[in-house]
Amino acid sequence: MLGYLIMFDNLTNKIESAFAYFNKITRLDEKQADEGLRKIRQALLESDVALSVTKKFIENVKPKIIGKEVLKSVTPGQMIVKIVYDELTKTLGDKAKDLNLNHVPPVKILVVGLQGSGKTTTSAKLGHFIEKKLSKKFLLVSLDIYRPAAQKQLEVLATNNKMKSLPIVEGQLPIEIAKRAKNATSISGEEVIIFDTAGRTQIDQQMMMELKMLYNEINPQEIMLVADSLTGQDAVSIASEFNKLINLTSITLTRLDADGKGGAALSMKSVTGCPIKFLATGEKIDQLEIFHPDRIANRILGMGDVVTLVEKAQQDLSEEKIKETEEELKQGIFTMNSYLSQLRQMK
Ligand code: GDP
Repeated sequence: MLGYLIMFDNLTNKIESAFAYFNKITRLDEKQADEGLRKIRQALLESDVALSVTKKFIENVKPKIIGKEVLKSVTPGQMIVKIVYDELTKTLGDKAKDLNLNHVPPVKILVVGLQGSGKTTTSAKLGHFIEKKLSKKFLLVSLDIYRPAAQKQLEVLATNNKMKSLPIVEGQLPIEIAKRAKNATSISGEEVIIFDTAGRTQIDQQMMMELKMLYNEINPQEIMLVADSLTGQDAVSIASEFNKLINLTSITLTRLDADGKGGAALSMKSVTGCPIKFLATGEKIDQLEIFHPDRIANRILGMGDVVTLVEKAQQDLSEEKIKETEEELKQGIFTMNSYLSQLRQMK
């Protein structure tokens, strides 16, 4: 399904030109590295990656390139692909993070974000995911009494996909709806409640105040921001604003199937400290995927086979060193240098 992530194509194309340069270099020295890193820096900035994130990226990668011992069976260019891949994975969040569902049921998920970011659609997709992949029963609840037909939209999504939503009672306030939902699940036994909240076209005081009130009333275990990846750096600053008010526990990026720059995905974790847990790749109910930083890094670089090759070479080197140490121990020539080399290997 990763093939649908059109959003990253631009970045892939830009980074390829930096790697074309690296492929030609013969040594991992500062002069050669600088020129290639300049190209990577440019690719990241042109892809709308935040300046602070780009700077940190280059600062972290540079010392790993310079003076690094090139493994026997790979080229300097291939080593660099692996170093960049590792840093990209780290920037994207390292490991996939699960939803926070380890709590006495019903677990409450509060879905927040700007209007049009894909909140309602994502709420329904999330329900689908929780039922199909985690085998838990859930209830969908719309707290959006402002946008005409927003509650109806969620109800229709639920009905069309044979999912359960809280019946609409006209005239109720969001807080009243939230209380009614909690009461309903204490009778019908759903393990998870997904609350879709009202958004605005931009952050405003009233929306934030209402969110804070709902947050206090609901006491959610998972606070998920839905952010439109097409809006690039705006998505990142919006996430930061929400995070200040209610500590987000996750971000879902939508519209990764659209032709954009991909910078939001790369900057989000680093800027907000909050993990991306899901990607939305279309309008259909099952077009929600767990965000795996390593797979995304692979998708961006498009060089999975090179990464595997270098990992294999690193593993071969470790095995070779172990054999050398065994030999040295046998012959009684294990020196402080051997010990240092072992420590380096372990690191
Ligand atoms: P809300 O106002 O935040 O609740 O946004 P909606 O859930 O109503 O979504 C707005 C529009 O974006 C709808 O037409 C959705 O079908 C569409 N949409 C949501 N997520 C995605 C996505 O990942 N990809 C694409 N292409 N469209 C999406």
